[in-house]
Amino acid sequence: MKLIDEIVEVLEEKKKDSKYFDVSEKTINEFFDFEVQKQKSDINSTDISVKSGYRQAESVSGNINEMNMDHLRQFVLSCKECKLCNTRTHVVFGEGTPSADIMFIGEAPGQEEDRQGKPFVGKSGQLLTKMIQAMGYSREDVYIANIIKCRPPYNRNPSPEEAKCCLIFLNRQIELIKPKVIVLLGAVPLHVLLGLNGITRIHGQWKEYNGIKTMPTFHPAFLLRDPNRKRPAWEDLKKIMKFLGKK
Ligand code: SF4
Repeated sequence: MKLIDEIVEVLEEKKKDSKYFDVSEKTINEFFDFEVQKQKSDINSTDISVKSGYRQAESVSGNINEMNMDHLRQFVLSCKECKLCNTRTHVVFGEGTPSADIMFIGEAPGQEEDRQGKPFVGKSGQLLTKMIQAMGYSREDVYIANIIKCRPPYNRNPSPEEAKCCLIFLNRQIELIKPKVIVLLGAVPLHVLLGLNGITRIHGQWKEYNGIKTMPTFHPAFLLRDPNRKRPAWEDLKKIMKFLGKK
């Protein structure tokens, strides 16, 4: 029953957002197989030299581990490691201060982000900016990125393969930034990074990703659709402020 509830929760979120979502049996199976696949894979490894699928990466630098942020950005901007390179307008690498205390991680670029090549610049981005300001920071003080760096067609969820392919870059960004807190915005980063489902149940609970304190909360797009969730989201952010000595 818990599994069915979680499927319904995710589908309801997508329906409200008018996103294209292929609800085939295969999709559902892939969605919930991902956690198992993630555990079996070396998804968290940043050593690309052992991955045969990353030939381009090997030919450019040999090892993502040795890249600084500029080199990584340069590499990712021309990345063709998954099929999303065929439909993107711009790669959305992420932006902010490279020594940020807080790193916000969303799901994937949307239409406006794809057009501008910047993360969270549409309506939900405006709300995220307000949330950051309410915490006593500016956008420039923090770092903002997504699980994947190219827009999936029709704003569908990234496939497990796409997420796996792209996560290596996000992991290197996290390694370089060394944030004190990672904020997971919504169900997709919660699932991909922590292997957990049920953002409504889990938001506000401290977790850990690669040794870094991690706070799951609602995606700003979800808060725009359901303003009643803004209060609990603010409570989540206040926990981060308290941890960072902001209040
Ligand atoms: S989504 Fe990531 S892995 Fe796929 S082409 Fe874009 S940057 Fe490369």
